[in-house]
Amino acid sequence: MHTPRPLPARTDLAPATVAVTAGRPVHEPDAPLNVPLTPASTYVAGGDREYGRYANPTWEAFEDVLGALEGGRALAFASGLAAVATVLDLVTPGEKIVAPRHAYLGTLSQLAEKERRGALAVQLVDIDDTAAVVAACEDAALLWIESPTNPALEVADIPALCAAAHAAGASVVVDNTFATPILQRPLELGADVVVHSATKYLAGHSDAVLGAIVTNDDQAYRALDERRRTIGATPGTLETWLATRGLRTLHLRVERAQSNARELAARLGRHPGIDRVRYPGFGGVVAIEVAGGAMAADLLTHSGRLFVHATSLGGVESTWERRRRWQSEPQTIPDNLVRISVGVEDVEDLWNDLEASLASVGDAQATPDP
Ligand SMILES: *Cc1c(COP(=O)(O)O)cnc(C)c1O
Repeated sequence: MHTPRPLPARTDLAPATVAVTAGRPVHEPDAPLNVPLTPASTYVAGGDREYGRYANPTWEAFEDVLGALEGGRALAFASGLAAVATVLDLVTPGEKIVAPRHAYLGTLSQLAEKERRGALAVQLVDIDDTAAVVAACEDAALLWIESPTNPALEVADIPALCAAAHAAGASVVVDNTFATPILQRPLELGADVVVHSATKYLAGHSDAVLGAIVTNDDQAYRALDERRRTIGATPGTLETWLATRGLRTLHLRVERAQSNARELAARLGRHPGIDRVRYPGFGGVVAIEVAGGAMAADLLTHSGRLFVHATSLGGVESTWERRRRWQSEPQTIPDNLVRISVGVEDVEDLWNDLEASLASVGDAQATPDP
């Protein structure tokens, strides 16, 4: 029988050092510095791993690094949404979940589907309206937090919400995809469970789809591990290997993306082609509302030379998209809102590209139709 690995010892090392050093093989002659890629569907019987759906040493390296960064124990999943589904599966049928109105679309559709089938009651809230969220938690079993939210970039008061939810008897899950453990460690702020789309900043190179859950609650860890095996929401071995490699530079990538994003957000705020800039002050995601409406926003996202028109975020390269191009995006998101995932390129090159793209949109609008 597979036995869960023990909680990592509390570390006095800074996150940058943890990102580089955790999840390595022991230092001994001829040992590789990195945990190798181990494709395995089964193991010689008699040990802890037994079968490929239960455990894998390559997953474990990723889980050890992420767990150490978040301050808990991690489990890797096939995708961020597989992690979300696994957590939601553990909520007792009929219970109420409080969730942000502006959350990741896949999370919102899982909640809506469960509500339609009568499996759960869902109350959507503005996650930055602390008093309203606290009131909604009164009769809830679970508070789902995303902060900053996708794509409106609202910020939740995580410590206050965790305290209020716990007082009301509700558990708290934080989707920490946008902030990463470099900028925000929800378990330290009181959350019970952290969820990640490792597809984004953790893997960081737009080459893998992967999810993760982290918790320091022993019972939750066992239940989630059990659930992962039961439904088979297990990660690909290559994906966890790629993501471990990604985690080694997480702090560098997040710091650079953040400093680029801060600078671009400030300059965009002074640009006449932009009606509004949303930037929470941290992280690498910026949302802009483009003067001239949805058409101008579409034109803008097609005119970047460096900024790639693509969904997703958290890669080394800068990407952008108009969010309302997705049919299911909530109507409360302005139709001229463009979400920018700022990468780690040179900031002046990025600014020149943005300025040129904004100028080309301005020219197109100034030119009367023939
Ligand atoms: C992308 C994303 C997800 C879903 O993750 P996948 O890896 O695409 O399944 C969940 N939450 C947030 C905030 C995301 O950005």
